[in-house]
Amino acid sequence: MTKNYTRDYWESVLSGLKPEGRHFIDGAHRAAASGETFIRIRPMDGKPGAELARGNAADVDAAVASARAAFESGIWRKKEPLEKKKIMLKWADLIRAHGDELAMLETIDVGKPVMASLGVDVRLCADGIQFYGEMIDKMYDEIAPTGPNARALVRKVPLGVIGAITPWNYPMIIDAWKLGPAIAAGNSVVLKPAEQSSLSAIRLAELAVEAGLPAGVFNVVTGYGEETGKPLALHMDVDMIAFTGSTEVGKLIMGYAAQSNVKRVALELGGKSPLVVFEDADLDAAAVAAAWGCFYNSGETCHASTRLIVQRSVQDKLIAKIEAVTRSDIALKHPLDPAAQIGALIEEEHMNKVLAMIAAGEKEGARRAFGAERVMSETGGYYVSPGVFVDMTNDMSLARQEIFGPVLAAIPFDTEEEALKIANDTIYGLAGAVFTRDMDRAHRFSEEIHAGTVWINTYDMSNFATPFGGFKQSGFGRDRSVHAIDKYCDYKTIWQQFG
Ligand code: NAP
Repeated sequence: MTKNYTRDYWESVLSGLKPEGRHFIDGAHRAAASGETFIRIRPMDGKPGAELARGNAADVDAAVASARAAFESGIWRKKEPLEKKKIMLKWADLIRAHGDELAMLETIDVGKPVMASLGVDVRLCADGIQFYGEMIDKMYDEIAPTGPNARALVRKVPLGVIGAITPWNYPMIIDAWKLGPAIAAGNSVVLKPAEQSSLSAIRLAELAVEAGLPAGVFNVVTGYGEETGKPLALHMDVDMIAFTGSTEVGKLIMGYAAQSNVKRVALELGGKSPLVVFEDADLDAAAVAAAWGCFYNSGETCHASTRLIVQRSVQDKLIAKIEAVTRSDIALKHPLDPAAQIGALIEEEHMNKVLAMIAAGEKEGARRAFGAERVMSETGGYYVSPGVFVDMTNDMSLARQEIFGPVLAAIPFDTEEEALKIANDTIYGLAGAVFTRDMDRAHRFSEEIHAGTVWINTYDMSNFATPFGGFKQSGFGRDRSVHAIDKYCDYKTIWQQFG
């Protein structure tokens, strides 16, 4: 029987929730070594939420020691592949079984609609763990070509201890993108979630142990970036940092790796993705893609289509269609309302930053077509309505900076050459799209837009089989797909001589 997800149902889930806010180290909860905590303010209503351990270098040391001990003991990496697979699949099942609770934890932390947390974030987190679990007993090593008296094995071996540092916009999904391949490859992990969104990570670790993952293989340390993320990235006994977050912090991570033990880094960073629309395109489809591509998750999406590069002849028509789609389909409501499509921004400080960027853009001459204002302030939460600015040029701040709010910059063009130049005129290269009925042109654009993913006549379609990540200052290394496992492994040659 399908559940009736009413507002009352979600209120009852919320009132029954007792979020755990301590670290998860060596299979058990642990308060911060300093005894310090911090309080998360809920973005949906501005009220105090969970109390979390405020980690520091001592907690990071303990988590890394636990991860190292688990790795060296071989308790996970040397287990039969079929056994490992069963544990990962059970973990995925437990995530699904606790979906409502996990969805609520994500919503109180992040402010996104609880139905989206359940239908998108929980689902994709479980799918991610399952995808890599299923790979475990299907990965083969290689035998290299040699002369007749030798045999050279090329083994793919785990790196050891992985530090994962993740952001707050899709916590559970991005955690799974790191945890799935890192753990499937046989590594141990210390995860430092964003200070704003630690609750789902702690619960994921509890469920992993319940599924049979040995203690120490997956640890969570909560706290602030400078106090926990930095010591993790500087740690001499961490073999790799898998980071998702801003380009600014990504650069620091590279520096920490260089200052410490030359650990590897994989960086999934920011974006300012172009969506190019030609006058021959299906404008209805383009409007739906542009609105959802930019406004889903309140614009707090790294690959959001924040730059609409539109042929001048159809700009007004397209903007009218985007406004109609936004007003009719993308309901901004309280996150516990099952009808909500988008909810609150992550915190007051971030909302104020978004509003300040909008104000600065208007000072530069950006012309507002609709929206992009603070709304629902009576709730105490941090809500900004989706909005569009038109007749922009690509040098204006709203077209260049990652806003991470529901703000779309429409930049008109006249020729194909000009459209491509604008699309690539950015420091980022995470994603892009082209809308046209001319398939030769679509092919040219898909080849020439410098981005990790390019969509043709759609936006944000993906599955686990496709790699995700950026070019340029959007980072390097890929999450998702079978290729994601490679970065958590190294090749080891074993040469055997006969005769
Ligand atoms: P952020 O400020 O860069 O933080 C990301 C993570 O790094 C958080 O856990 C943060 O901890 C930690 N951190 C901050 N300073 C640190 C330091 N000095 N050393 C080590 N760790 C540190 O990013 P965010 O605001 O959470 O997320 C938004 C950004 O992430 C956007 O730029 C977005 O484009 C990007 N993003 C990229 C992708 C992708 O796949 N390419 C996906 C999602 C998001 P605290 O929370 O405690 O500061």
